[in-house]
Parts: sequence; structure tokens; C-alpha cells
Amino acid sequence: MSKLQNVIQPQPQPQPQPQPKSPYRNLLRGLVGAVALTTASFGVSAQTAQSQHQCPDQGHYLQVLGSGGPEINDGRSSTSYLLWVDGKARVLIDAGSGSAWRFEQSGARMEDLTAMLFTHLHVDHSADLPIYVKSAFFTDLNHDIDLYGPEGGERLADFIDFIDSLFGAEKGAYRYLNAPFNPDSHSPYHFIPHRVPLTFGKVIPVKDYGELQISAAAVAHGFLPALAWRIDVGDKSVTISGDMNGQTEQLIRLAKGTDLLIAHAAINEQTQGAGQFLHMKPSRIGEIADQTETGQLVLSHFMNRSLNREAEIGAQIGSNYSGKVGFAQDLSCWSLD
Ligand SMILES: [Zn+2]
Repeated sequence: MSKLQNVIQPQPQPQPQPQPKSPYRNLLRGLVGAVALTTASFGVSAQTAQSQHQCPDQGHYLQVLGSGGPEINDGRSSTSYLLWVDGKARVLIDAGSGSAWRFEQSGARMEDLTAMLFTHLHVDHSADLPIYVKSAFFTDLNHDIDLYGPEGGERLADFIDFIDSLFGAEKGAYRYLNAPFNPDSHSPYHFIPHRVPLTFGKVIPVKDYGELQISAAAVAHGFLPALAWRIDVGDKSVTISGDMNGQTEQLIRLAKGTDLLIAHAAINEQTQGAGQFLHMKPSRIGEIADQTETGQLVLSHFMNRSLNREAEIGAQIGSNYSGKVGFAQDLSCWSLD
């Protein structure tokens, strides 16, 4: 029996907009991202478009900046999320391509950010970092921002090396942006990179900011170094799986009792080969969501093999999980309250 009666919708709903006249109409159907394309073509001001994408001023929300993966023909930005607390964007999680543009559309301010977390260093999760770093120069940011990412592995750089390869003073690709990474510079703010060790078998307490507690778990994205992240704010929490294949129990430990679980749905139930080695099948997402006892599961990181399969994927998840299931769109807001 289908469990699609449990489908939840993001809050708030975007304003009704004309459908785009585009060959990607079906892919874009219902996406808030389509609103941006449509309003741009109609000449609506950026301010008008922006106000439609903001999360409510009060409460705790996870906004999906990018709900796609690495494909360039999926109608979506690559992976990125923003945690909002009472109208302020406090934590950015991942920064795939298109993230920075969605950040602007969301109405978020660099000045409100406390930390940026990276699940792993594939391009669809990290390519926009230099955009944030450069754009900070033109803001009133005057406090440091912590950056957290995983230690390295055979096929992906260590987070500290990754930062150095981009922003290092001598050989960094963007060495002209080194100042905020140099603690001795006179920059009014600094970006402070931190390597998170891949400690399997337990939840990794990463940082307690008082108001925000950040923890992680090492997860299996094939053999690649990757983290799932959890952020607790008061008695609310959100957990983000990142890319992972579901072969370990780490995410279940991390996400136990979380108010909102974001799971990456990059494959369908029939996907074989490298896809299933790297990502979770919908039935496995359902098992994990059930064992975490979360009340809300939102799917993201769609790829063409999982896009536009809401009924099929919803039913496969529903066979193992009886809670609410949502399907992320770019700029959609999901309440933790
Ligand atoms: Zn990915």
C-alpha cells in the first residue's frame, strides 16, 4: 500500500508563478528554482524574487539551497543547505555549484554565519566555496567563520590540504584570497579550517557554540572520506546524511531522535554498479529513517535516475518508514519545530 498520504510540503509555500516555457518544463515543475527563472525572464526585480525565497523570521528551519547532484541537466543547484534560527542564517552545509546564487536568493547574510560544514569534497558539494570567500570581502563580516571538513583519503584531499590548494599564500589556485586564511593578516574576519577525523563507531562531537552544537559521523560513500552532520539548536535538531551508501550504522547513531533528517536520494531501487556502491537505495533510506525515529524525512540530492519518481520512491521508503516524507526543491524551507 502506498504511504504517499504522509508526504509533507515545505514551509512556506512559494507564491504561485507562471510555468516556464522551457524544454525542461517537466524537470522544473514545482521547483522554486523555476520561480527564479520565470521571474528573471519577466523582468521582476531581484528584491521581489528574493523575498519569495526567505524562510519565516521566527523558528528553526533548514533551507535547501541546492537539491541536485553533480549533473548539469537536472534543473537544480548542486548540494547545499542553510540552517536558519529566528531569521538568521547560522550554518551553511556544503557549497556545491549554484549554492552561492541560491544563498543570495534566500536573503541570507554572510555576517550571520557561524560555520560552514562540508560532508565531503566532491565538486557538487564544494565548488562554490571560493565564491563565498571572495564575496565576504564586500560584506560587513567582522567575526571569524569556522570551516569543517573530513580528513583525506586515496581519492579525495584532506580538508586542510584542500583549503591550502585553493587559498594557500604560495601555491593556492586563488592565492589572491589568502588574507582571511592567514591568522596574522589584518582582515576583520578569518576563515578557520578544521579537519574532522573519520572516527568510525561513534558520534564525533565537533564543536559546541553554546547555542549551537555540531556533531558528525563518518559514513561510507564508497571508499571515499565523507561525513554526515547533525546540528542541535536548543531542543531542535537537523541531521544531514551527505552522500553515503547506508552500509554502516553511523547515520542511525548520529540522527537518533532528530527532528528532521535530510537524506540523499541519488539513485533508484534498481540502480546497480558504482551508483549503489556510493549511494543509498530508497528502501535503505526508509530503514534508516525508521531506526532514527525521526518524524520528518526530507529527500534531496536528486539525480536524473531518481528525479520525478516521487510516487515510486515514496512507496519504497514507506514500506520501511511510517513518518512524513518530503521531497526537496531548491530554496524550499523545512521546519524543525
Ligand atoms: Zn554528491
